[in-house]
Amino acid sequence: MTETPTPTKRCPICGKPAVEKYRPFCSSRCADVDLNRWLTGVYVIPGDAGKTDDSEAAIPALPGDDEDDNI
Ligand SMILES: [Zn+2]
Repeated sequence: MTETPTPTKRCPICGKPAVEKYRPFCSSRCADVDLNRWLTGVYVIPGDAGKTDDSEAAIPALPGDDEDDNI
């Protein structure tokens, strides 16, 4: 018999083996931590900057202001 080592996913928060119930986390606490990271904006979603409230600060000052929306 060959025992296939099941690739246990690890909790991205603390690195412990993830639990099926809370995957990909190991516990509801870590899931909560991850959620908080999203809410606090630790994770940056590329290509979706226009959705954030602080986009004003995130947008680099472009030289010139002649970018009209002529489509
Ligand atoms: Zn964890």
